[in-house]
Amino acid sequence: MTEPDTADARFDALGLDPLIQRALDDLGYTSPTPIQVKAVPAAMQGRDIVGIAQTGTGKTAAFSLPILQRMLPHANTSASPARHPVRALILTPTRELALQVEESVRNFSRNTPFRILAIYGGVPMDPQVQALRKGVEILVATPGRLLDHLKSKLVNLGTVQHLVLDEADRMLDMGFIDDIRAIVSKVPEQRQTLFFSATFSPEIRRLADSLLTDPVTVEVARRNSPADLVNQQVVEIDSDRKRGALLALIRERQLPQILVFCGTKIGANRLTQYLVREGVEAAAIHSDKTQGERIKALDAFKSGGLKVLVATDVAARGIDIEQLPMVVNFDLPGAAEDYVHRIGRTGRAGCPGEAVSFVSPEESRNLADIENLLKKPIPRIAAPVPADTAAGGRERYARGGEARGASRSSERVPRDLPIPRLRDPATEIDPMSLPASAFQTVEQRRSLPPPSRRRTQAEVPALLRPLGKADPAVS
Ligand code: AMP
Repeated sequence: MTEPDTADARFDALGLDPLIQRALDDLGYTSPTPIQVKAVPAAMQGRDIVGIAQTGTGKTAAFSLPILQRMLPHANTSASPARHPVRALILTPTRELALQVEESVRNFSRNTPFRILAIYGGVPMDPQVQALRKGVEILVATPGRLLDHLKSKLVNLGTVQHLVLDEADRMLDMGFIDDIRAIVSKVPEQRQTLFFSATFSPEIRRLADSLLTDPVTVEVARRNSPADLVNQQVVEIDSDRKRGALLALIRERQLPQILVFCGTKIGANRLTQYLVREGVEAAAIHSDKTQGERIKALDAFKSGGLKVLVATDVAARGIDIEQLPMVVNFDLPGAAEDYVHRIGRTGRAGCPGEAVSFVSPEESRNLADIENLLKKPIPRIAAPVPADTAAGGRERYARGGEARGASRSSERVPRDLPIPRLRDPATEIDPMSLPASAFQTVEQRRSLPPPSRRRTQAEVPALLRPLGKADPAVS
């Protein structure tokens, strides 16, 4: 198949039914994204698809639109549940993503009578049971709760014609492999399978091979590639100074919204309490919060009523907030790939974003892993210091990382110097343009893991392959 031209593509050239096209017009979708240009026509023909794409590339529409198109002949307004069997099953790793996908599918199908339902854990079963009894054609589900309903024989997947695995890599990371296999065993073998993953490890490839038949592989260069759209910066700072620096950052930048990642639920709670005490509208979302609390916090954040959302990785997965200007890694993630997922929350839909990571000396190895994965160092910036702390009263800024150095006081910047902006051009040098000697200096400042422990080329996920290799388009 030749590569479709994505540059001037238009939705109305894809041959979608007017009912769907009208919904896209209403939503203001004029041009399909590259993954949509590549995946929609093949999926409309009934082909299986392997999509290597992140959230933010438009993958939800890439799998939803062709499914809706192929389901349209079955659309009906009958009240009988029997006329609304489950025809499409979309599996997602988290409840947040399930809700988000449900909302998107609802939007795309707003001119059709299809019934859509998201089922996920952490909420009472009963409303889901009632909705399932009435008949649902498009089911968006997290694996655990779907299995619960399957055990109660409340869902029949024997009628499924379209199966989607969304963020398959994340589902594997979260240990859902057995659940996925149990669910897929209930779905007819004669079906269309659309498989999406941000990364393509050998394990993911094996799962895809076992589920798909002669798939079309669609791989898109990420529109929100960290290198392209996210201005990444590192603040080297001791752990106990992080929260003061975060507060200073929030106050200094006055950004409408900041998504802050913490490594633990306790850490997220404590940080949120601190921010609230300091007068910042903040809330935490993590898996110990009730679903009601999580939805409330997310909605408040999305609508702009909440300035700071403090999240753990699982809770934040798939969160889609239009024009989120900044992500802060209060703690670095344990796995370097999660860094890419985290900063992918900003710099979306063509809008530039910023990702600031607070890195303590204990986290320097994680940082080295991340920079290995990105294949470049992340520029360091000075740590903001709150003006109303004792330290901040004496000086406005401390040098990044100096807190643990002996020459601390000599490196401090006098208080009357202008506060450096995070977008200080001095910190935005493209590290790839630096001479090798410059890299050496950066390398020396980091405590890199011994060579044997560094990520090999083969381990670097397909996600971050050089663009030349990463965009073979439709094969
Ligand atoms: P996704 O990768 O599916 O999570 O989509 C990311 C964001 O892009 C969502 O807010 C979508 O509504 C938006 N989006 C997806 N496709 C298009 C398109 N063709 N035109 C405009 N916005 C889009």
